[in-house]
Amino acid sequence: MLAVLTRPGRSFMGRLAKGDDLLRALEQVCREHNITLGEVRALGAVTRARVGYYDQEKREYYFLELDQPLEILALVGNVSLKDGRPMVHAHVTLGDNTGRTWGGHLGEGTPVFACEFALYEHLADQVLTRQYDPETGLTLWPK
Ligand code: ZN
Repeated sequence: MLAVLTRPGRSFMGRLAKGDDLLRALEQVCREHNITLGEVRALGAVTRARVGYYDQEKREYYFLELDQPLEILALVGNVSLKDGRPMVHAHVTLGDNTGRTWGGHLGEGTPVFACEFALYEHLADQVLTRQYDPETGLTLWPK
């Protein structure tokens, strides 16, 4: 188990551009403002989506291609370092035109229709860097 003491840093609110890749654009904001640890929340809409599910037996992600406009009902995520660069790990709940929901691990390939985000920097004495975890096959924080 790992619990790192953090204190609030800067916070940002903003809007992504139509056509931006949702995941990459959030990482771009982190890079531009040198945010290496934090949390992100967002809502809005996407024109299509690519969301992942991690198969714990096979130890691989498979991705659902949702080829339809969807509302971003909730996006929650965190920011930490992977290979020396800020990485956003986000999960999304998306709603379709019947109110049904889809969701999963946000993958690259999810274009923004409209998106408003809030980004909260956390400051800590210890750097959180993702590394390969042999127990799960995932790239996680150390425990
Ligand atoms: Zn995930």
